[in-house]
Amino acid sequence: MKLAQRMSRLGTETAFEILAKAQKLEAQGKSVIHLEIGEPDFDTPGNIAEAGRNAITNGFTSYNPSPGYQDLRDVIAAELSSTRNIDAKGDNVIVTPGGKPIMFFTIMALIESGDEVLYPNPGFPIYESMIEFCGGTAVPMQLHGDKDFNIDINEVRNQITPKTKLIIINSPNNPCGSVIGREELEALSVIAKENDILVMSDEIYIRFLYEGSHESISAYPGMLDRTIILDGFSKTYAMTGWRIGYGLFPSDLIEPVSRLVTNSVSCTASFTQQAAIEAITGPQNGSQEMVKEFKSRRDIIVSGLNDINGISCATPKGAFYAFPNVEGTGLSSVEFADRLLEEAGVAVLSGESFGKFGKGFIRISFANSTANLEEALQRIKKFVEQ
Ligand code: PLP
Repeated sequence: MKLAQRMSRLGTETAFEILAKAQKLEAQGKSVIHLEIGEPDFDTPGNIAEAGRNAITNGFTSYNPSPGYQDLRDVIAAELSSTRNIDAKGDNVIVTPGGKPIMFFTIMALIESGDEVLYPNPGFPIYESMIEFCGGTAVPMQLHGDKDFNIDINEVRNQITPKTKLIIINSPNNPCGSVIGREELEALSVIAKENDILVMSDEIYIRFLYEGSHESISAYPGMLDRTIILDGFSKTYAMTGWRIGYGLFPSDLIEPVSRLVTNSVSCTASFTQQAAIEAITGPQNGSQEMVKEFKSRRDIIVSGLNDINGISCATPKGAFYAFPNVEGTGLSSVEFADRLLEEAGVAVLSGESFGKFGKGFIRISFANSTANLEEALQRIKKFVEQ
């Protein structure tokens, strides 16, 4: 079959491929510890699940407006206003099936042939994939391993051209767990304004912050009108399978992005949106306990990795990923990840799945039980020392 040419430019997310490979090994009887997928190993808090069940019982089972129910949009706007220190309006919120479609729709609405987009590298692979798919040029903004995986603002300045239309940032970052420094954030806001560039700020991990406080680029003077904030419920409320996320958009993007929603998925599931209202307005202890647990797992995994010869791991400030350097083992990151799965039964991702600057690193998701993390550390140590 002859596929459309644009399909050759569409990448993927390796985590799903490695998960399938690991499950195949398990089906053959091999024990595998899953540290490849970025998914909280917790159940959706009971009050949220109940709100979803009640919504189905009460008839929230039909189509609803493409940008989402107005009451949910208003609740999200209030949440964004208080957590980002901005004045967000419900009419500027669009609800989508997951946070991922916000990337898709934003890039689809803005980027065409010849446009350049800066994106974090190592970074979430879908940014690069979507930019290229839409005919844009993906310009990697390096997160430097020797600078706590922060950007080098002078380097970024030199990457700006008259064709730069959008800068994508993600803090806390997947896969590095790093947080963009305050100075860098402010400098980026100045660059964006001086060069008339929009910013898509992926803030899906802001509640998984283990030190310091979150700052959104949208709060800097003049930035609300040129920032798209991406957030969602998947990670914060362990709702990955419910498929619900949202974006806060400048007013000019509301109609075009709503039209993209109408053309693709029509709307987000009605009962899922009712559960999302409960997630934001109900008790937060389920989510807070999960974050507390992740912090203690982070400490276990980072110190365990640093005890292994040839591996060095920076302490992630946020998200639930460790991104250790494995060059000292003499293996490439791809070979390390492949052989670790085959020979030791630990599924991780090679850093190169997150772009060329991920070379030499692997990504470990610590969204797994302490017992499994400890067993994984033993297996990794044995594998490296063999
Ligand atoms: N942004 C980042 C950086 C992510 O890691 C993910 C998921 O892994 C998402 C966005 C999207 O998540 P979802 O579509 O489940 O809301």
